[in-house]
Amino acid sequence: MSLVQGVQREAIFDSHCHWDHPKLQALQPQLWQNCQQQGVRDLLVPATVAKYWPQLIPLCQQNPYWHLALGLHPYFLSQHQADDLALLEQLIAQAQPIAIGEIGLDWHLPEDTWAQQEVLFLAQLKLAQDAKLPVILHVRKCHDRVIKLLRQADFDEGGFVHAYSGNGQQAQAYNSLGFKLGVGGSITYERASKTRRLFANLPLSYLVLETDAPDMPMSHQADRLNRPDDLPKVLSVLSELREEAAATIAQQTTANVRSVLRLS
Ligand SMILES: [Zn+2]
Repeated sequence: MSLVQGVQREAIFDSHCHWDHPKLQALQPQLWQNCQQQGVRDLLVPATVAKYWPQLIPLCQQNPYWHLALGLHPYFLSQHQADDLALLEQLIAQAQPIAIGEIGLDWHLPEDTWAQQEVLFLAQLKLAQDAKLPVILHVRKCHDRVIKLLRQADFDEGGFVHAYSGNGQQAQAYNSLGFKLGVGGSITYERASKTRRLFANLPLSYLVLETDAPDMPMSHQADRLNRPDDLPKVLSVLSELREEAAATIAQQTTANVRSVLRLS
């Protein structure tokens, strides 16, 4: 709990924040102070490309509320090196990430990369399964394929589907596989009517909040820089859409993140 302008606020958890990004680190230490003032107490920090891990790991070790994930992002397929998977396996033991991510499939990339993306995805799912860690999924245009692969792999550690963009049926499938769905800044745009309607109607037990900072700016961010201290904006829009108290949503979505991450 923190006090903001005399109003008591539930702590909220940004389940997807690229905290190590230079655009965010350039705003430190003020940005983290703002996060705390806004009640944003925890950040789950996903990885993208192995060359950034040497900065990402010590950064997350500086603060127990900056939770480290490690993984090879599908969108950056062309940047991954042959020995990155072996390094990931080694760092799972040494750096003890709380999750594997972000990993997944991105069908915005040309079709001739899809098979290679799947090899990388399945290898990382196996590492997560062996280490008993949840995963952070990046999925664009291929939810049915990802759901099928999760089932075929018997993956049962759960995780998050970041910036969820699927339909209600796919949401149910993910839920049955132990996944929570990331609600982010896209709902701040009135034109996102399909996504807004979906998040208004899904059970609260399915949902987690995220910014995806510094990308995916929200409607009010004139400088186009997305920041984790703006997570309360996602919460307040979701509260309006659901006609449900912000405190209830804050409490339940935070509990949802913590249960996936096995944080008691
Ligand atoms: Zn991301």
